[in-house]
This record gives sequence, structure tokens and C-alpha cells, in this order.
Amino acid sequence: MLPSLFISHGSPMLALRPAASGPALARLASTLPRPSAILVVSAHWESPQLQVSSSPRPRTWHDFQGFPDALYQLQYPAPGQPQLAERVIQLLAEAGLACFSDGQRPLDHGAWVPLSLMYPLADIPVVQLSLPSAAGPTLQSRVGRALRSLRGEDVLLIGSGSITHNLAELDWQAGPSSTAPAWAQTFRDWMVDRLQDDNEAALLDYRRQAPHAARNHPSDEHLLPLFFARGAGEQFQIEYQGFSEGALGMDIYSFH
Ligand code: ZN
Repeated sequence: MLPSLFISHGSPMLALRPAASGPALARLASTLPRPSAILVVSAHWESPQLQVSSSPRPRTWHDFQGFPDALYQLQYPAPGQPQLAERVIQLLAEAGLACFSDGQRPLDHGAWVPLSLMYPLADIPVVQLSLPSAAGPTLQSRVGRALRSLRGEDVLLIGSGSITHNLAELDWQAGPSSTAPAWAQTFRDWMVDRLQDDNEAALLDYRRQAPHAARNHPSDEHLLPLFFARGAGEQFQIEYQGFSEGALGMDIYSFH
């Protein structure tokens, strides 16, 4: 059965310069059974309520500014899958969660940048589920649990965010590294320890308990997809660890 994944998607430049974690993403995809479809919860689709993308042909959205032209030329023409969107709405309803269809939603870079490295042929349908970020980690855990059974239907569930994410404190000249400033590394290690111990109470309360939580996540939309991925799986496994741009965590985890 496919695991669920948490992917730190890094800067959009990862699509052009995959040095940091691109090879790890490609390797991970090559070891997994081929998915029939992919469902992504991206930090870049925040919404008040749960919404699921249902376009059969989602556009590639370059939802960022100030990057080189070459990045805006990239396309990820994967099809959508309206039937999967319907199935998501149904499973969430069974769990008491209302979710609405959005037939216009394009693919944001939290989805297409990592997928362009994992499945460069763009031949697997992709559906996105929005992130009601104001509802915090508890809702994301529930959403993950509600959709866990999709893994048995060959759907790859991905939470795409970042294990650390303070854009104001990055060094945009710094390349990939296994180390980072202590405030970022300590936070990352605390999260990994709690994930390894399966300590749900501490994880859900990370904002109070984890060292430097607010410094690593001034707002927590980039960490919340981790709770979706964890809710959708069980056995925690580290697929990749590292940093880029100084303090930007690039970790990738799987939940089997
Ligand atoms: Zn992002």
C-alpha cells in the first residue's frame, strides 16, 4: 500500500535547481508503487472551509513573484480527476466534515514543484485539497484519518509544506546543507523525536511545547500539511533530511 508523505517543498527554484532534495524526491517516487492518482494538501491553498479541486485540466499556477523567467515557463500539465474529488467529498462527509468542489482551482507550486521532480511526465492525475489553516493541526489530523482509506485505492496522499518556514530569516544565497542555525535545527529535531515517539498530544500542542516554534513558523500553514500526512498513515519514516537557504527545512517523511 502507498504511504502518505510529508514533503518540504522549499523555494519554487527547486524546480530548476533540484540540488537540495530533488534527487531524494525522484528516488522516493521510483520506489513507490505507481499511484492511480495523487491528492495534495498544499500550504499554498488556504481557505476558510475545505475545498477540493475538480477541474479535469487544472492549469499550472506560477503563484510567486520575483523569480527568473525560466521558472514561469515551466508547465506541469497533469490531468485532474473529478471522480477522486467526488470521493474525497464523500469520505469527508462520512467523517462529519463538509467539503466543497472548486472546478476552477489551478495547481499551485506547493503541488507542482515537488511533483515535477517525482513524476516529471505529469501523467498521473492530481487533485488538491485546501487547507483551512485557522482550524489548526487537529482538523488536519481528522482530514488525514478520514482520507486514509484512499491509500488502499492507490491514491498517493501528500502534505506539501515545510518543516521550518521563516522567510524573513533565510539566506537566499545559501545552498543545500545538512546543518542550520540552532533555532531551526532544534525545532526540527524536536518534531522528529515526537513523530518517532508517536506523541500526538505533544505534536498537536507543538506551538506551546516545541522550542522556537513561533520563530520557525510565524504562521503555521507550512507545518499543517504534516498533520494531514501523519493522520493518513502510521509508521513514521524519514526519507530525507536537510536545509536550504540557511534555515529552510527540506525534510521529507513517509507514514506507512
Ligand atoms: Zn511554500
